[in-house]
Amino acid sequence: MKSRFYPKCIYLLTILLLTGCGSQAHVLRKTDVAMGTLVQQTIYVSTEDNKITSDIIDEITKLEQDFLSRRLETSQVYALNQNSGSIQEVTGEMETLLRECLEISEASDGAFDITLGPVIQLWKIDEWAGVNDTAEYSLPTAEEIRQALQLTGYERLELKASQTETQTMAKLQMPEGYVLDMGALGKGLALDHLLELLAQRSQVSGATISLGGSVLTYGSKPDGTPWRVGIVNPLDPQKQLGYLKLTGNLCVSTSGDYERFVEVDGRTYHHIIDPATGYPGESDVKSVTILSESGFLSDALSTACYLLGTEKGMELALEYEAEALFVTHTGEILMSSGMETIFKQNETR
Ligand code: AMP
Ligand code: MG
Repeated sequence: MKSRFYPKCIYLLTILLLTGCGSQAHVLRKTDVAMGTLVQQTIYVSTEDNKITSDIIDEITKLEQDFLSRRLETSQVYALNQNSGSIQEVTGEMETLLRECLEISEASDGAFDITLGPVIQLWKIDEWAGVNDTAEYSLPTAEEIRQALQLTGYERLELKASQTETQTMAKLQMPEGYVLDMGALGKGLALDHLLELLAQRSQVSGATISLGGSVLTYGSKPDGTPWRVGIVNPLDPQKQLGYLKLTGNLCVSTSGDYERFVEVDGRTYHHIIDPATGYPGESDVKSVTILSESGFLSDALSTACYLLGTEKGMELALEYEAEALFVTHTGEILMSSGMETIFKQNETR
């Protein structure tokens, strides 16, 4: 079994004093693991107070524990899944998220579907990054997939407003056995939370934070040069294809078949599931990178665009005013016009 490797406990905090242009900025660099993935922070601050880096990890962890996780009993998603089949009240933030997800499901002709939980559990995608012995893994059978698919379908999620004496709460109804899975958007949503957190800290002048396949840029660098966000070469993931030159507050997410996969009998199965078949999606896309002001959108759209393929995927990205960069299985690069102006291809890749 091949899997991504996350070092168990990496803790690296560097404080460098940068002097230049008459002003002083400290740079904080930190690498941790949160939300089951590597979190790399580079934060420019005007004081030596480095609490911001741990606040960022706390924010990501809180979002997972209280809100998004399918596996942790403390989360809202866990509770919704446990009580599928009955009508349940949801918080305002959950209502907004569910509505936005349903909108992307519609816009992507069902390629994006957060109700794929039963199929994702069947493939044991969560374990692919941890199990190292292929012998322990057996593929789901066609019959198992057929049955799991019967418990999926965003069209059967119903959100209704419900009025109490003091407030309007939304209620969610989904069929018994449904399992919501927020894996396609969780890291992007976390970036939105982090952008808000950074904006509340006046001592932060600039930052870049990467969370698995999603990266944010915030503010500016002390020397005024653009942020550089590397794009992995999906045909040779140890190398970079190039980088994006970005200024300001932006989010970049990449979905690709190299990110999480399992090999069985010489065949590779990846983690982006086609809701129509229950099997890993097959399009002309090897990886797709989406740039947006919204982390949620960059992440959700990257998953949807992977499944839709270059043509329909590009249409979807443009519909959401996002920029897109597709790499096909043959290594061809296709970009939206805005992306062309900010992508710099490496000479050697
Ligand atoms: P990403 O790496 O952002 O493309 O997200 C992939 C993750 O989203 C998978 O690990 C699953 O948890 C979940 N997922 C897989 N296929 C889909 C899909 N078609 N729609 C929504 N979520 C999906
Ligand atoms: Mg995604």
